[in-house]
Amino acid sequence: MQKLRNSLQNFNFSHIYIEKSAKHHPNTEKILTHFKNAIRIEIDHYKDVFNRGHQSFTLQKQSPKLILATKKDNLIYKGAEVCEDFGNKYFYYTSSMMNCIYDCEYCYLQGMYPSANIVIFVNLEDILTEVERLLKKHPVYLCISYDTDLLAFEGIISFVASWFEFASQHSDLTIELRTKSANFNAIKHIAPLENVILAWTLSPAKVINAYEAKTPSFTARLHNIGEAIEAGWRVRLCFDPLLYVKDWQEQYKQCINQTFETLSPEKIYDVSIGVFRVSRDYLKKIQKERIHSVLLAYPFECNDGVCTYSERHTKQLIDFVYQRVCRYVRPDKIYR
Ligand code: SF4
Repeated sequence: MQKLRNSLQNFNFSHIYIEKSAKHHPNTEKILTHFKNAIRIEIDHYKDVFNRGHQSFTLQKQSPKLILATKKDNLIYKGAEVCEDFGNKYFYYTSSMMNCIYDCEYCYLQGMYPSANIVIFVNLEDILTEVERLLKKHPVYLCISYDTDLLAFEGIISFVASWFEFASQHSDLTIELRTKSANFNAIKHIAPLENVILAWTLSPAKVINAYEAKTPSFTARLHNIGEAIEAGWRVRLCFDPLLYVKDWQEQYKQCINQTFETLSPEKIYDVSIGVFRVSRDYLKKIQKERIHSVLLAYPFECNDGVCTYSERHTKQLIDFVYQRVCRYVRPDKIYR
């Protein structure tokens, strides 16, 4: 929580843009109470600010502004091919927020969005209605924290609590909440739900220090995961994206050993393993934004518009991490 406070203070959101349509929404009023000194600017549409030309994602990331808007279309998306569906036939995701308070060097959002400003769609109820419409047709597996880190922001918006309340009323809905945060405290008061998976992304401590700016440390994440498991939540561990860095074997070995020496492996719901991958268009943009990045200077190979490490390096990374995780977790619980 302290880390979140520090991050938010550093970000400070000196300016908050408010769409006319979002102005009187209760969530807008609630969010604004957290930023009493911010300059408020009314706008017609969030895209007037967010989609402006000639913005520098990297520069904006140093002092992002907040945009409060209402989502009018694309309330739910079909799950992307590059994302693991964990065997779920009806795989969807939704973005009630765009962009993230963290600043990972490899983040695909740098390529996806024209701006680093953070957009919150305050009309969560419309997204919930859309999910209910889908649920009338079939069960739904829904990732609610792609394109952002919702739990990191929970102290400001409480969307996670709203989603969990909704999930508690819809047994045909399974929710995945993905996070790098150490903000479990914000949802500690909620009783665990059978149809909710808390998915933590884990990286070696050195990778976090070098490439995952502003994110909580490895030990802070482990501590939060331990708390969530003890409280009875289903917890997914995501060793994803694996990065081809110097000493990667040693780093991932230590990371995996420490993870399963700290947490009880038999209490882990499942594990996901994947290497860094990104669409060709996004990669081009990211490399332009991060011209000095050694990580992104790798000669990535692109197939069908998706770029990743060479087949040999991908196999080395996945096989190594899979074998190490297999020492602790049953293979049928590991997705790669
Ligand atoms: S935590 Fe995820 S969404 Fe946030 S900056 Fe890092 S990679 Fe991007």
